[in-house]
Amino acid sequence: MYQHKFTNTDTAPLAAGKAVCVGRNYLEHVRELNNEVPEEPLLFIKANHCFVSMHDALQLPEQGECHNELEVALLIGETLSKDSTDDPLSAVIGIGLALDLTLRDVQQRLKDKGHPWERAKAFDGSCPLSHFVPVSAGVEWQNLSFSLTVNNELRQQGNTRDMMFSCEQLLREIIKVCSLVPGDVVLTGTPKGVGPLLPGDKLSATLVDLMSVSTVVKN
Ligand code: ZN
Repeated sequence: MYQHKFTNTDTAPLAAGKAVCVGRNYLEHVRELNNEVPEEPLLFIKANHCFVSMHDALQLPEQGECHNELEVALLIGETLSKDSTDDPLSAVIGIGLALDLTLRDVQQRLKDKGHPWERAKAFDGSCPLSHFVPVSAGVEWQNLSFSLTVNNELRQQGNTRDMMFSCEQLLREIIKVCSLVPGDVVLTGTPKGVGPLLPGDKLSATLVDLMSVSTVVKN
């Protein structure tokens, strides 16, 4: 059973809740898929059956082309609801990386029909998560750089300053709709550079100088 783990081993693992994800939060990614620029964050949920550790080999589904979407993940440590008045960022206890794995052809078919995206984005193992770096004072939420290489070639490079909705704005928008509880994670959107992953691909992801994760796609 997946549990959230931390980069410092003296922090106990945390039971996993849901992931609330945002689509189309980086303009250049919106453009690469010819999507419309959203007026409000486009939200969807991955339940905890989607979580696996990014530190283990990745098992892709067999239903079509599966794309990487590397994203900054925020781990929630205190309940946030629409009645919360505090700075919502104070409820974030960890920062990590997520892969919002997406069956792109399936998603296109669903989008064309106006159907929900679960078949494309919420399959078993669709949300590999890294260990989480405990949040320390002075974290620069809007200056977190992150990158993904596939077989040593740079595929995605992002910085949270390029988000259309900031980390704080995202949390405020999400809790208008659904409460966040300890163990939930928020996926903050992917920059440009999504593309198909193939069996045997070697992935390496970094978050500022806080963390790097290497993994491989199972054959
Ligand atoms: Zn995504």
